Amino acid sequence: MAVEILYEKDCNPEVIKGKKVAIIGYGSQGHAHALNLHDSGVDVRVGLRPGSKSWTVAEEAGLKVMTTEEAAEEADFIMMLVPDENQAQVYAEQIAPHLKPGDTLGFGHGFNVHYGYIQAPEDVNVVMCAPKGPGHIVRRQYTEGSGVPDLACVEQDATGDAWDTILSYCWAMGGARTGIIKSTFKDETEEDLFGEQAVLCGGLVELVKAGFETLVEAGYPPELAYFEVYHELKMIIDLMYEKGIHFMNYSISNTAEYGEYYAGPQVINDESRAAMKRILGRIQDGSFAQEFVDDCNNGHKWLLEQREAINNHEIEKTGEKIRSMFTWIK
Ligand code: NAD
Ligand code: MG
Ligand code: MG
Repeated sequence: MAVEILYEKDCNPEVIKGKKVAIIGYGSQGHAHALNLHDSGVDVRVGLRPGSKSWTVAEEAGLKVMTTEEAAEEADFIMMLVPDENQAQVYAEQIAPHLKPGDTLGFGHGFNVHYGYIQAPEDVNVVMCAPKGPGHIVRRQYTEGSGVPDLACVEQDATGDAWDTILSYCWAMGGARTGIIKSTFKDETEEDLFGEQAVLCGGLVELVKAGFETLVEAGYPPELAYFEVYHELKMIIDLMYEKGIHFMNYSISNTAEYGEYYAGPQVINDESRAAMKRILGRIQDGSFAQEFVDDCNNGHKWLLEQREAINNHEIEKTGEKIRSMFTWIK
């Protein structure tokens, strides 16, 4: 099924410029949304908790800052960019009481809407602008004149022009420069979770760690192992990203290319594919979402244990030492 990709000519900047936008949260995505919209000429205010460390940071960046309640009251487009696990509570306590008919509630990821943790009233639009990249890249590419592609979605169209509104918002984010992909809350949520779990974050970190451990356990120096399975990764990815797998294959030696076809399917094999299917199933039936929410309610116990383990892994110590010698990575 072909997706619809939209560009600057398909968006009307005046729609979002005619609204008062509240960005709730000023983290990775929040700062990028707030600053990109502000630089695109949109009337933005940031909603934060009193005493939040981000308060002065956002003010020093030239943004209007107020409490979440004040921002929700004043705005007619409210973008939820606090962590997924806090959104249901922030919504119920600080946003829902200030929603008026015809307002638009926006999200950067569909988790809470898709799994039913947030249910907006029927007279409010529910939309999403999900940039396909980390917040700091979303901001950096905007300032450089390019932009990270956005997924745009409408879950609830109360006013009849929810699509115009979210496309206009994505334009202000810089997404229309590279393309806005029309999607749905269901597809965005399930694909995003699968991508980060199986490939981008989960799959990748585990692959690199396993390669590093295999070399180090066989007696090779950790510094060399780091260069082989970690440092070079970015160069390979850059070639794939810019010009395709065939160009990466053209750039590497025939020896490396032969090794790719010979060894790759042994590492990522039928067992790995079965694991991917299992992971996707748990995303689709909501059991991953519930497990994550339960751990959040338990003070992130499991998450923090895992974070501690990787932070203390030899690959991180080795990397820190090596990167401290690269003056050009700063
Ligand atoms: P983050 O953890 O970087 O930032 C969250 C911000 O919310 C922080 O400034 C924090 O201080 C603030 N906050 C926390 N609790 C709050 C509260 N109760 N009231 C007001 N502010 C509060 O979060 P993030 O990674 O930017 O994620 C935000 C949303 O964007 C999520 O839905 C996430 O799935 C989505 N998203 C993130 C990325 C990314 O690059 N990190 C990419 C795509 C989508
Ligand atoms: Mg995600
Ligand atoms: Mg080599």
